[in-house]
Amino acid sequence: MAAAQSAALDCNLYSDPTLTSVRERIARLNGVESENVIVTNGSDEALSFAFMAYCDKETGAAFPDISYGFYPVFGKLYGLDCKKIALKDDFSINASDYFGLGRTIFIANPNAPTGLTLTLSEIEDILKNNPDNIVVIDEAYVDFGAESAVPLTKKYGNLLVVGTFSKSRSLAGARVGFGIASKEIIKDLDKLRNSTNPYNVNSMSLAAAAAALDDNEYYVSNCKKIETSRKVMSDGLKALGFELTDSKANFVFAKHPKIDGKELYLKLREEGVLVRHFDADRISEYNRITVGSESEVSALLSACEKILKGTN
Ligand code: PMP
Repeated sequence: MAAAQSAALDCNLYSDPTLTSVRERIARLNGVESENVIVTNGSDEALSFAFMAYCDKETGAAFPDISYGFYPVFGKLYGLDCKKIALKDDFSINASDYFGLGRTIFIANPNAPTGLTLTLSEIEDILKNNPDNIVVIDEAYVDFGAESAVPLTKKYGNLLVVGTFSKSRSLAGARVGFGIASKEIIKDLDKLRNSTNPYNVNSMSLAAAAAALDDNEYYVSNCKKIETSRKVMSDGLKALGFELTDSKANFVFAKHPKIDGKELYLKLREEGVLVRHFDADRISEYNRITVGSESEVSALLSACEKILKGTN
């Protein structure tokens, strides 16, 4: 906040269109060069550039049937043929379903809202089996216990890893995201950035993002705290009879055999607890519940207990 405030004093000037301060810091932290990094207005902008750059009438997109809701929105906006690939019954992704599709592939890892992950070797299999297509791995939630695919960008020229400051860096409102890939991919994306909005990240947000990266240890320990709370919350929910996916994100995905997902969502709302319900068929029994502070977790568990007592 202090860094953003001090940058605000100079906001009569344009922000840095080369985004160097943040690009260099992201590069250093990830063991790549700054030419391997693009900084964007939230990771949504990096995803949008990827759809624009690598999909067209001939090359459509492919992504899981249950995943981040913006993929089909971009697909529609850019008039693309999108293939939705069904998750397995346990909501995991079957890597071989993505082999040789002739499309640009978008996979969130961990996936949303399931929190489930692919291993790096499964991602590598997808890359090997799509040598002529770009594979985008969206790592919005990677810092809460999953493994990053960034090291694979050195070996595979068809991999674009997208990340965000909105989750593990607590800067959702600042709108800062990034992409890491081969220099050629970054050049493509940068061409789109320069052709649409060269001052795409404002100076206050750039300063906040740079300061956050300088204070990396704080965020790493914060993520560890969230992982610990996720375990407390998951154990508490399981003790109440909930069934959960093995989430590696900052949320859990849970259903209860005795209460419909939508009903639970509405009743929790009456208790002042907001969770996310999705109407999509396959997941309508579930709710996505963000891991909160200690007091929020106990408020959630007490509210669930009260609601479940009322259903007996
Ligand atoms: N990818 C996934 C999987 C997400 O859930 C989100 C945020 N809801 C985003 C990308 C976009 O995040 P942002 O634009 O805030 O970086």
